[in-house]
Amino acid sequence: MAKPTAAGRALRAAADLVWPAHCAGCGLELAGPLCANCREELLGPVSRREAGAPRLVPADSGPAFPVWSSAWYADEVRRAIVAWKRQGRGELELEMRRAIARTAEAAVRVLAPVSLDIAVVPVPSRLVRRFSRPGGGTAELALAVAEALSGAGLKAGLADVLSRAAGSHEQAGRSLRQRAAGREGTTGVRRPPPAPCLLVDDVLTTGATLLDAERALGRAGCQTLGAVVLAVSPAGSRNTGRTPR
Ligand SMILES: [Zn+2]
Repeated sequence: MAKPTAAGRALRAAADLVWPAHCAGCGLELAGPLCANCREELLGPVSRREAGAPRLVPADSGPAFPVWSSAWYADEVRRAIVAWKRQGRGELELEMRRAIARTAEAAVRVLAPVSLDIAVVPVPSRLVRRFSRPGGGTAELALAVAEALSGAGLKAGLADVLSRAAGSHEQAGRSLRQRAAGREGTTGVRRPPPAPCLLVDDVLTTGATLLDAERALGRAGCQTLGAVVLAVSPAGSRNTGRTPR
């Protein structure tokens, strides 16, 4: 299928605010928020995908910080996530909540015995602030995770305990090194969560944000088990536009 132009996508995005009639990933005309193909891309195999995030894989071959996801942040999935974050289309939010809940259920089967308590901790989202959209963002995702894990019989609860220090830099247009430096030490813990933590974020790029959150929680005396994200930036294929397999 021919890819829609940027101008075409912008027009459709504007029209969809009034009456959603296109897939948020590929622009296909349809009544729902995502076509079957784009949903399939979002709901790929749940697996550890931190290997391309330089901040999460130590140079000394120590254990990496585990991050589970079901999608790569590219092409249709990238457009769908951006549309969700900017426009908050209600049905699209449901798709994102379903995707992250499915990932968390798979991750926890690996991470923890069923009896373990889990605090589900959203990583504060810079994009919610940037686009000033009420609701949405990582808190909604974390709530979906907490509900899914509770439904699966775990003692899981939402623990919205992290804060981002004022003055943490906007990351758009900055290099990876600048991004890492800009995020160093910007996360605070408002109160210690009551159990080992599972972090929830929308997109994994360098891993600096997750690492900062883990360190902040560690200073507050809390263990972080790992993280779940909607999609992972494919480090080795940023310039090809292709989704790695
Ligand atoms: Zn589509």
